[in-house]
Amino acid sequence: MENEPKYIIFTDLDGTLLDSENYSAAAASKALDFIRQNNIPLIFVTSKTAMEICRIRAKLKNVHPFVCENGGGIYIPKGYFEGNPADDEFEIIGLGVEYSILKRELKEASNKLKIELQGMSQLSDREIIKLTGIKEEDVPHARQRGFDEPFVIKSTDPNGDAERLIEYFNHRGLNVVRGNRFYHLTGGCDKGMAIQVLLGRFEEALGGGWKSVGFGDSPNDIPLFEAVEIPIAVKKPPKPGHFDFDIRDVQGLNFADGIGPAGWNKAALELLQKNKLPV
Ligand SMILES: [Mg+2]
Repeated sequence: MENEPKYIIFTDLDGTLLDSENYSAAAASKALDFIRQNNIPLIFVTSKTAMEICRIRAKLKNVHPFVCENGGGIYIPKGYFEGNPADDEFEIIGLGVEYSILKRELKEASNKLKIELQGMSQLSDREIIKLTGIKEEDVPHARQRGFDEPFVIKSTDPNGDAERLIEYFNHRGLNVVRGNRFYHLTGGCDKGMAIQVLLGRFEEALGGGWKSVGFGDSPNDIPLFEAVEIPIAVKKPPKPGHFDFDIRDVQGLNFADGIGPAGWNKAALELLQKNKLPV
């Protein structure tokens, strides 16, 4: 119909569309089916790497562009806007600061501020598995990074030290954001900037009038929330679920009634089928 909203959905993965423990999107399958049947663009915007996202896209039969490493890279399937996307060929737009620089900056900060921390590149495979719960065969994909270094703070005052790091890096033009399991060091990019670039591409190729929706669960999703027209937060475990304290003040944020993919499913179906926002 002419005047039905033309939705485009941007979503975080970990803890949002995917269950934070088993990485399953099963609880959102009804909404995902509806979205696929109605050809609504569903864009993954995550701290994961391109290789990790490609596996999830294949599993969820997603053919849309995606944003990796907290906004560091935008991947658009070749031919996507002409209606015949290629499976594994992408136009890549890099927005972030190069990985080797981020690794060096992190080491320097640790020495200068005397904060004990470890970047993902310094962690053993075993430690990565323990921290993330990903499978052994997925570790090499998690290590293929271009624009974002996840790290853990190992000191006795991780919150205080995170504050010091944020200030230090802000002076250096870099960003620290907190995700589900790691802090992330990035530069010159965030999820929101990547969304704006992608929305521009959609408008250029397919015309304007998009109603943008964004799902997230953590502080690294705040730029995502701020970049869309309809931001929706999902709850975090354990049951009955709670909203991350640090995202509650985002202006205009809507709160889905459910943890991760269950909340996602409910809010997406209400919105797409009935034009209703969670109350
Ligand atoms: Mg998340």
